[in-house]
Amino acid sequence: RAIVRDIDTLEEQNPSIKPAPTQEVDPTLFQKRFLKRIRDLGEVNALTARRVELCRYDPRGDRTGELVAVKSLKPENREEQSNNLWSEIGILKELYHENIVKYKGICQEEGGRAIKLIMEYLPAGSLKEYLPHNRGQTSLKTLLSYAVQICQGMDYLGSRNYIHRDLAARNVLVENESTVKIGDFGLTKSIKGNEGYYTVKDDLESPVYWYAPECLVHCKFYLASDVWSFGVTMYELLTYCENAISPMPVFLKMIGPTRGQMTVTRLVKVLEEGKRLPRPESCPGTVYELMRKCWENTPAMRITFKSLIDEFTRMLT
Ligand code: ADP
Ligand code: MG
Repeated sequence: RAIVRDIDTLEEQNPSIKPAPTQEVDPTLFQKRFLKRIRDLGEVNALTARRVELCRYDPRGDRTGELVAVKSLKPENREEQSNNLWSEIGILKELYHENIVKYKGICQEEGGRAIKLIMEYLPAGSLKEYLPHNRGQTSLKTLLSYAVQICQGMDYLGSRNYIHRDLAARNVLVENESTVKIGDFGLTKSIKGNEGYYTVKDDLESPVYWYAPECLVHCKFYLASDVWSFGVTMYELLTYCENAISPMPVFLKMIGPTRGQMTVTRLVKVLEEGKRLPRPESCPGTVYELMRKCWENTPAMRITFKSLIDEFTRMLT
């Protein structure tokens, strides 16, 4: 008894020796039982191995909990794809930028066999969903400000030695009418200590119409390969993501009807002949020139994200 009293008085005199509570709550660990699914996000018929759902995390069970976006693997792809989602989580967790979607945490289930990625929920969805419906209120100036923000996010990603490999309007999320963020780091790779590029082994899900020649021919990805994809994303922005003139049908028209591996071979051929996506109707010549600078054949000749930021900023002021 005397000893306990002594400890109490010691603690009173010196609060720092008081032991910490044994179980600190980790705010990045979400419990499955509190995660209530509301609906699917994104395209319904997407052929990807992943799914993104809108959920409410509602520990109190009174629908006051926050809305979150939850990425998981479809059950049939759990085994072979789980490394990819783990890698996406590992990367997103370490990225802090106003133009990159915010990581919130993970949810583990089935004894750690299945994993979910919890992100902030951006109600307007991706540019691919937002732009076609908001054409009227989205001026050229707004489109160019989106472009700058995408470049800023990409420049930060590059400064951390990552290549995104899937930059496209479907992977740029809209926070509100003036702010966009890069999402989907599912194909992102580190080029740290890799002499400036990453060589891909599996290319089943490749977004080939967004890819530069060196990616299609040699499976090599440089920071400059993301710049090429940014050019294609710019084309999408300036066409307001109109389906009929999106990159795929336009390239298919250029190369003629093909299937499978032949598609890539013909795509490479037209690109090597110097053919490119056309200038969208409402796109000023100066903006199209920047797009063309993203589409230089040689990676080293392409404009950088830093220069793009300067050029767009100049146009906006
Ligand atoms: P995938 O790896 O399947 O391509 P994405 O991260 O690109 O997954 O998400 C697929 C779609 O889900 C996006 O195009 C977008 O429409 C929607 N989505 C993804 N993340 C969010 C989010 N945080 N908030 C709102 N919608 C999102
Ligand atoms: Mg995606």
